[in-house]
Amino acid sequence: MTDRTNPDLEAGTEALAALRRLSRDIGRDRALTQAAGGNTSLKQDGILWVKASGTWLAEAETSDIFVPVRIAPLLDALHAGDPRAEKATDFVASDLTASALRPSIETAVHAAMPQPVVLHVHCVNTIAHVVTEGGEAQAAQRLTDAGFEGRFACISYCRPGVPLARQVARIASGRTDIVILGNHGLIVAGTGVADAAERLDAVVAALEIPPRPTAEAFDTQPLAELSAGSPYRLPADPGAHHLARDPDMLRVALAGPLYPDHVIFLGETIGTVAPDAGAMADYLRIWDAPPGAAPSLLLVPGVGILVNERVTAGGEALVGCLADVAARIPPDAVLVPLSADDVHQLTHWEAETYRQTLDRPGAPAPRPGAA
Ligand SMILES: [Zn+2]
Repeated sequence: MTDRTNPDLEAGTEALAALRRLSRDIGRDRALTQAAGGNTSLKQDGILWVKASGTWLAEAETSDIFVPVRIAPLLDALHAGDPRAEKATDFVASDLTASALRPSIETAVHAAMPQPVVLHVHCVNTIAHVVTEGGEAQAAQRLTDAGFEGRFACISYCRPGVPLARQVARIASGRTDIVILGNHGLIVAGTGVADAAERLDAVVAALEIPPRPTAEAFDTQPLAELSAGSPYRLPADPGAHHLARDPDMLRVALAGPLYPDHVIFLGETIGTVAPDAGAMADYLRIWDAPPGAAPSLLLVPGVGILVNERVTAGGEALVGCLADVAARIPPDAVLVPLSADDVHQLTHWEAETYRQTLDRPGAPAPRPGAA
């Protein structure tokens, strides 16, 4: 219960309640976050209240998704190159929480920003800029034109977690409250929840790219027939079919993985198949051996898309994200996908393996520090 005799504590409790509400709103906006992506935090009294790894911002008001982490020892570990900064579990203020969840993989990033409130989002408008050649400069120009000159920084892609936190620590200052992350997304900070929320809206408006209009309704029956008896099914989001129906969106989808959560939730490879039963049989013979090995996402150019039956709600959200990003990339843009080494680092990173475990339906609740 809130201690009404202590005004500081009361203000802190209200700030956390406001952060929960804002986090829920951000989590419900598919243009800002998808699945367990994105994270938010609040600093007060030496404690960083940060979203737990694998939880969804959309559930910020209905479940306990924030974990308290001691900022000073975490920053000491980050600056000293101490590997404990990566998981940050050793710095959880366990006296302040009963939660067994692990702090976000971006906890050190949040700690490295000095502002009291930090919002990290996988904004599709930002991503549509920063996965293309010259995209970071283009986003920077948009922010300058919107009056944010001197308030933002751009960081080229590096692996989320400690490598990104180190880069953020290099540019962090009280004035830098916007950070554009190459092949990743956006960080916006503020002195309070309302201040950060207002800035996030203004930044997203400055970076907005109207999505390409998509064609009218079409028949998904050929896809249903093609997938019958296969490990594939229709996607949850009918709008995602345009990834295969629109040649410019298809080009984006097949360029290679463009940002980390795509790799984590949908894997490195996207399959393609011609719309006939023989081609599908050949595809499955090559790709689905052993059974279950076929790519999460299968594009049928000119027809639509199929998702593997193992794809979770998280994976479905990332299918929608790819469609939202692809619809915002101009046909003449040169795409810059993640390198093979970038992908390897993501897929061999224990913290991401843990997050995938939480994404699996029916997965047991994790124990603190569990692998
Ligand atoms: Zn991120």
